[in-house]
Amino acid sequence: MAKAGDPRRRLLVLVPCPYQGHLNPMLQLGAALQSTGSFSITVAHTEFNFPNQSNHPQFHFLPIADGLSDADTSLRGFVSLVLKLNVNCKTSFQESLTRLRERTDWQEDIACIIYDGLMYFAEEVARELKIPCIIFRTCSAATSSLYNEYPQLQEEGFIPLQDSKALEFVPRLHPLRFKDLSIYKFEGFENLLPLLERSSQVGSSVAFLLNTIECLEQSSLMKLRQAYPVPFFTVGPVHKIAPPLSSSLIEEDESCIAWLNKQAKNSTLYVSLGSVASIDEKELVEMAWGLANCQQPFLWVVRPGLVHGSEGINLLPDGFAEIVGERGRVIKWAPQQKVLAHESVGAFWSHCGWNSTLESISEGVPMICTPCFGDQRGNARYLSHVWRVGLLLEDMERGEIERAIKKLMASEEGETVRQRMTDLKREVIHAIKEGGSTYDFLDELVKYINAL
Ligand code: UDP
Repeated sequence: MAKAGDPRRRLLVLVPCPYQGHLNPMLQLGAALQSTGSFSITVAHTEFNFPNQSNHPQFHFLPIADGLSDADTSLRGFVSLVLKLNVNCKTSFQESLTRLRERTDWQEDIACIIYDGLMYFAEEVARELKIPCIIFRTCSAATSSLYNEYPQLQEEGFIPLQDSKALEFVPRLHPLRFKDLSIYKFEGFENLLPLLERSSQVGSSVAFLLNTIECLEQSSLMKLRQAYPVPFFTVGPVHKIAPPLSSSLIEEDESCIAWLNKQAKNSTLYVSLGSVASIDEKELVEMAWGLANCQQPFLWVVRPGLVHGSEGINLLPDGFAEIVGERGRVIKWAPQQKVLAHESVGAFWSHCGWNSTLESISEGVPMICTPCFGDQRGNARYLSHVWRVGLLLEDMERGEIERAIKKLMASEEGETVRQRMTDLKREVIHAIKEGGSTYDFLDELVKYINAL
């Protein structure tokens, strides 16, 4: 096996999309590929949301000038920001790569560029420089195959979506209903559609990587394999095949682990709505009282910006901290994978981002599903109605919240959900072990890249 500094190690250039839910799986994939001993990793990254390099001494970083202004980086402008990055970054990425190849101490060749599908400028640069490239989608297979259906749904007149049809099944996409689509109630979906269409094209990519698991999404994967004429590698859940690494953009509050150590097994509810979703102040207050009234211990992530434009924690209602006392803990950002792996955590109330979904399934933690926007809707539908390892909670009202928590954590029905999640976890663990699908795909991927 090749070692660091060994000339046989070939270089992989990763191009992540600069958001937490995209950055994590890309860096995990890089760490997994590096740990095979065949590759060294360079992460080409925008100035916006640049990862903390000191957390990743094993990687090299290649800055890309992104030309974004403060106004561009407002959290509410995801679609326009990504569109802008694709325009602004192309030339600077091309120049950075060219400089990298011209360096006098340059010994490695670039085996390939692995880019997040949303960063499609990287595919254009790879094509022009004649470097092989591979597309990596960080969402589920169901979400990826849904993007391919939007043009036809538009042609058939289903888009723009109508509220009166919200509960009807979408043609060809059972069990998704119109309200489960990522464009449902998405402000500015007209701009989102072309972005999704472009980011779904493989272009000159020689392979397609997905952070999912064969056993979880067989039928969606079958559709994708029919739609794309390139080899497919399902290497999820990537966080389970990579050495542990932290790519959090907010500092993780490790002190919550000592607090979790004091809680009884399976007693604690972990609550987080991820890195982008936001709620209004009234919903935050309802969440607080629902948690206060449920009588279960809870660990709640209230990140800055959860309520748009505020620190969040300062908006918690008067009396909340006193009533909850030591039973609850509110923090700004958690070491989420460690939290979900902790034996005291018995359930996860989540917005159902795809990483959170995979992380919860991998630890066998049943979920309460409150999707906020985008692909979270479809993920929540699969969790609650296909795999049936989560309960849907759509109404941010204290009574509903209390009932959902008690149902999942203290009822027979909840126990059945937990059992199904334990079974699903077993399948995932099987997939990452020798002879399992993910294990084999990683092995094949290494051989495939080395043969490029
Ligand atoms: N995460 C974390 N600490 C937190 C909340 C989230 O480390 O307090 C991580 C989580 O483990 C996941 C990512 O942030 O890997 C969020 O990605 P996801 O796809 O679940 O949601 P998004 O933030 O993209 O909506």
